[in-house]
Amino acid sequence: MQYDNDTKRQCGRRLVSVPSGKAYRVSSPAANAMVAHELADELGRALERFAIEAGFDERGPVSVFFRPGIFGHHQLGRAADIYAVGGVGIDQWKRRWDEACGRAARFAPGAARQIVTKTEPVTNLGWRLYKALQRYGRWSQPYGYPIQLFGPWTRSEGPWKHISDRLLRAHHDHIHVAK
Ligand SMILES: [Zn+2]
Repeated sequence: MQYDNDTKRQCGRRLVSVPSGKAYRVSSPAANAMVAHELADELGRALERFAIEAGFDERGPVSVFFRPGIFGHHQLGRAADIYAVGGVGIDQWKRRWDEACGRAARFAPGAARQIVTKTEPVTNLGWRLYKALQRYGRWSQPYGYPIQLFGPWTRSEGPWKHISDRLLRAHHDHIHVAK
């Protein structure tokens, strides 16, 4: 999606940085996630809920790192890209997830496999963040487009399981949300 310069100017005035919450802290520079108020609010709510559920609090908040995006919704401050959570890159969380799946597949059904399949969804903060954003965030769905939540888990977890190889590759190292 492309936007003309007038639209960008009109909307560009009211951008804010995604604020830190109580149980999570934005560790990237404010300029990395300058967004519209609605998106800041929606992200703040979902991130706080994710962080509390994952066991973080005011005394020990989890860090979240954004990087600026360029295309489509980013031009209007209606999208944000998360590259790391808990000081670990989303791509590394995904690699860890895939390795755990591989380990689980090698075990016969039973206790050993359960250690992997029950532990990883609890301890993998990248996956947890993706699922929390999916569960608790209301992201935009432009007419004729899928819900604007993309990341390395989109093909297996949804919401748009038919994501193309190209788009999946483009989101192998970050989670994109738009509102
Ligand atoms: Zn993006």
